Amino acid sequence: MATLKAAVLVVSTTAAKDPSADSSGGILKEVFEQEGGGKWEVVEIKIVGDVVLDIQRAITGWADREEPPNVIITTGGTGFAVHDSTPEAVNPLLHKQAPGLVHGMLAASLAVTPFALMSRPVAGVRNKSIIITLPGSPKGAKENLQAVLKLLPHACVQAAGADSRTIHAGGVKKLEKEAGVSAHGAGGRSHSHGHSHGHSHGGHSHGHAMPVRHTAPSESPRSNDPALGPTRRNRSSPYPMLAVDEAIGLIREHTPSPQVIKVDVDGSLVGCVLAEDVTATEAVPAYRASIVDGYALIAPGDGGSSKGVFPVASISHATPGEIAPLEVGQIARITTGAPLPPGATSVVMVEDTVLKSMTEDGQEEHEIEILAEGVKAGENVREVGSDIKKGEVILRKGEEISAVGGELGLLASVGRAKVKVYKRPVVGVLSTGDEIIEHGRPGDLRLGEVRDCNRPTIMSAVRGWGFEVVDLGIARDKPGALEETLRDALRNVDVIITSGGVSMGELDLLKPTIERSLGGTIHFGRVSMKPGKPTTFATVPVKNNAGERVSKVIFSLPGNPVSAIVTLHLFVLPSLHHAAGVAPAGLPKVQVILDHEFRLDPQRSEYHRAIISLGKDGSMHASSTGGQRSSRVGSLKSANSLLCLPAGKETLSKGSKIEALLMGRLKSEFDVL
Ligand code: AMP
Ligand code: MG
Repeated sequence: MATLKAAVLVVSTTAAKDPSADSSGGILKEVFEQEGGGKWEVVEIKIVGDVVLDIQRAITGWADREEPPNVIITTGGTGFAVHDSTPEAVNPLLHKQAPGLVHGMLAASLAVTPFALMSRPVAGVRNKSIIITLPGSPKGAKENLQAVLKLLPHACVQAAGADSRTIHAGGVKKLEKEAGVSAHGAGGRSHSHGHSHGHSHGGHSHGHAMPVRHTAPSESPRSNDPALGPTRRNRSSPYPMLAVDEAIGLIREHTPSPQVIKVDVDGSLVGCVLAEDVTATEAVPAYRASIVDGYALIAPGDGGSSKGVFPVASISHATPGEIAPLEVGQIARITTGAPLPPGATSVVMVEDTVLKSMTEDGQEEHEIEILAEGVKAGENVREVGSDIKKGEVILRKGEEISAVGGELGLLASVGRAKVKVYKRPVVGVLSTGDEIIEHGRPGDLRLGEVRDCNRPTIMSAVRGWGFEVVDLGIARDKPGALEETLRDALRNVDVIITSGGVSMGELDLLKPTIERSLGGTIHFGRVSMKPGKPTTFATVPVKNNAGERVSKVIFSLPGNPVSAIVTLHLFVLPSLHHAAGVAPAGLPKVQVILDHEFRLDPQRSEYHRAIISLGKDGSMHASSTGGQRSSRVGSLKSANSLLCLPAGKETLSKGSKIEALLMGRLKSEFDVL
């Protein structure tokens, strides 16, 4: 077996201030490495204070990463003191409870001291990591770990996804032998009170230290299972509150990488990012062309004069076809962009000539006098490849085809018919809520009805960014209805954006549906920001049409229209950009000067809707759009930016400089058109 990885989290406010105060971390590392039969490596030791969010952040940071540790051990914070909150922090993070491990640890400690009962351990599995909370005292922590250490490798193999039938193939005795334990001496410790549940004969017992069949639903008093109704729901959000930057980091990490497709070169490319370098297979111009309307001639050698009267031997228009060669003493009338006759070296502008004589019918030029002196070879001629050389790289992988036209122009000018780009994700937009009705439904509203504001606005914003949008309609607040809508949508779109149903009400079904019914992973479910706190980002495993397992993205935005639109810009756009290979992802950041005072929110950073205008001095000025309540969609009218106001107790004065995210076109004081 490959080495198993353990991470140790020391939870202690004292040790967080002074790491030398911690001894449990080192002791646990020793137990793993010296008593673990050479199977273990302690890959991380971290210290945090008795703060629920810090504990959760550390644990999810380990358990949610690509290669999580097999076991996460915490030590400390499991007692009854006011600040002891490790079980409260860990419990909501567990996808599966492991009361057997808890029972085993308590039983082992109880054999040593009745005070074992003063510890409140929890244990379970998050993703592929087993999490166990040990007491804080070095002795207690060590004993508890010793009680379960030998059993952990087996649990780890299962948690990491091994097929349990294969694992159990040799029966329990074989497992016990491999782990070096027996029913009467699990973990090397004997149980003086050994009672029997009799199931060791059933071929599926793991010995007393780990009575796996003891799982009772009542061990986990709160649940996100909507079927259990309002009395059993979580009464505060179990999702750790992340900073906006952390949330954006998780979006970057978990948005699937861009897919490469080959598409026709046409207007639908606008907004796409190239997935290959493009080399010109033709030169532009492909022939020697005149830059002006005038006369092609053969420039005289050194000392010769270009002045004189010459017969007009031929005419070259900008049309494909053969042209007769020019001979010394002749000139050819030529138009802008037309090919030079073979032999011609230069062109003089029509402005530098006069008509000398006409043909007899008066319809054509016969002779022209050239007034220009000193005409050089190559004058007024675009040489072959002087705009684009054959073989030159004209566009690079990662460059975006803009609506300005330059990139498409380059592709078109060298005759490129197909090009590799990153596939732009198709986005489905769903509103949720029993109260939500189609925005255009005629007639007065009944009590409790709300017109759907989010779906039309989100769809138009996403379309405005250049992504294809699918209207998923309105889902009612019924678990089955929501699940079915999402499942259907996952077949047809790459990204789902929902709004509503992510708050703390018993009908807020998005998170439980994603986690419980769709088997998805919620990467974050709460962000410290205003508006938009309950914003949720998840990925769901699905099979694509080719039968491959892929991951699709769900953003569940808050229901309040302003929160939905702000978080759409702040979180969904970067994800769509990542998926489409657009870099840098997200809204551009600019620095602005405040046109008036702004009061800060003491707790949360605020994304304040504002109008930025470009002053005559070139600086950008911001003023608020007024009342910022998250239901007041008018705060987004005319807004072209989100001011990034930090949390704080003070008021920012007029003239302060602050960062802003640009959502719309800049107003300019130079605008006079
Ligand atoms: P929820 O998170 O579902 O509790 O929604 C929070 C608030 O947003 C409630 O007042 C909802 O009525 C409102 N809301 C939810 N979805 C929409 C929508 N599509 N359009 C307008 N308001 C909505
Ligand atoms: Mg709702």
